[in-house]
Amino acid sequence: MPKPRVTDPAAPQLPDTSTRPDTPALVDTFGRAASDLRLSLTDFCNLRCTYCMPASGLTFLPRDQMLSADEVVRLVRIGVERLGIEQVRFTGGEPLTRPDLDRIIAGVAALTPRPDISLTTNAIGLDTRAAALKDAGLDRINVSLDSVVSETFERLTRRPLLHRVLKGIDGARAAGLDPIKVNAVLLPGVNDHELPDLLDWCLDRELQLRVIEQMPLDADHIWERSSMITAADVHQILEGRFVLEPADEPRGGAPAELYEVRDRSTGAHRGRVGIIASVTRPFCADCRRTRLTAEGRVRTCLFSREETDLRHALRSGASDEEIATIWRAAQWGKKAGHGMDRPDFVQPERPMSAIGG
Ligand code: SAM
Ligand code: SF4
Repeated sequence: MPKPRVTDPAAPQLPDTSTRPDTPALVDTFGRAASDLRLSLTDFCNLRCTYCMPASGLTFLPRDQMLSADEVVRLVRIGVERLGIEQVRFTGGEPLTRPDLDRIIAGVAALTPRPDISLTTNAIGLDTRAAALKDAGLDRINVSLDSVVSETFERLTRRPLLHRVLKGIDGARAAGLDPIKVNAVLLPGVNDHELPDLLDWCLDRELQLRVIEQMPLDADHIWERSSMITAADVHQILEGRFVLEPADEPRGGAPAELYEVRDRSTGAHRGRVGIIASVTRPFCADCRRTRLTAEGRVRTCLFSREETDLRHALRSGASDEEIATIWRAAQWGKKAGHGMDRPDFVQPERPMSAIGG
């Protein structure tokens, strides 16, 4: 399995930018401009979801190779001041395992222009931290929860910790974080049959469920195109209990297709559900993302085969504009799409936990 090619940190081999327009924005050759930054704060996690991490055997980044809180805030500052970043989502690994998360969020919230700040988390420990994170400036969260049945949760995450996640969601609500979205990945024969119950559970609590198609980003390579649960399957599974109608809202660059949900038996409106069909209905043409890994490398796509290091520049005295220039050049090389639909598609070496979902 080929490793991602990392441009030499000291002398990055960057894409040819001779035809790049003279703009500060993070544009690419396909006319897209990135305004949405996904920033991974760690590759470590306290769960071992089967579609993401292996049961054992991963080595995690040593502390000194991860970006410090100050380095994270500086890179985000460069992003918002010089590159047109408007939204920042912290992810991982599990971002709550960083004790300095509050400090990072406060630093980003103090930037001008202030970006929208969100977090994707498994919610373990969120009950004790939600209020401080909200006070620091966190605007929104997505909690990953694939099942509300303890046995299924443990089978999926390899940890008996459903009660901790539920406590975390309660804590987020008590802290006033709103909306709270729930991300669910469906695995065939494991939790797909539970989807109507999971949606009911979320609607009862005014949580917005987002069903995400499983992507080939797992360490164990369990993904199979032929058996994955597709967006079309999701409609079929939900159809027995609910009626889904496309929501009357422009999608913009958002990955989720939104639907209004009604009870099939009573016709009562219950709320909304989102379906993220990354595999079967890719939205690459409208992608506004740029990504940074926990060690400070730009990835222009989840499925990139190349990464561009910014940490060396950061730690060797480069100016903000020099770092912005490397980032712009890396983004210029963003591919048209993730290529999952091509016969020569090769799964990236890094699992999702080490990229930042
Ligand atoms: N640990 C946090 C969490 O689980 O929310 C943040 C990191 S996790 C990698 C971010 C998101 O990626 C989660 O919602 C998770 O469900 C999703 N994810 C992980 N592996 C995936 C895969 N193979 N396909 C689709 N989504 C995946
Ligand atoms: Fe951890 Fe999130 Fe990956 Fe699950 S999906 S193993 S919670 S990083």
